[in-house]
Amino acid sequence: MLEMTINDKACRGCRLCLDICPTECFSFDQQTAKAQVAVAENCIACLSCAFLCPSGAIGHRNHHEVKNFYRNIEFSQRMGRFL
Ligand code: SF4
Ligand code: SF4
Repeated sequence: MLEMTINDKACRGCRLCLDICPTECFSFDQQTAKAQVAVAENCIACLSCAFLCPSGAIGHRNHHEVKNFYRNIEFSQRMGRFL
């Protein structure tokens, strides 16, 4: 079964993972100002979140990659501010 993790220490709360995820797997913890995994079962393993995360904080295990890699160009361009 797929496992998804967010490294709390690495997460900088940019919310890019919430923006990009097509199946709304993440939620945002206002207390800690960090993303958290809300519904891992919804993950289709497109790996867009892991690709976008500027901190490399998101990990997946035991997943099968989907063939059609979901990538939203508009959101990808927003990465520029972190580079
Ligand atoms: S994209 Fe990465 S750094 Fe940004 S909120 Fe999500 S886990 Fe945190
Ligand atoms: S791999 Fe894709 S579906 Fe899974 S949490 Fe990340 S963006 Fe969402």
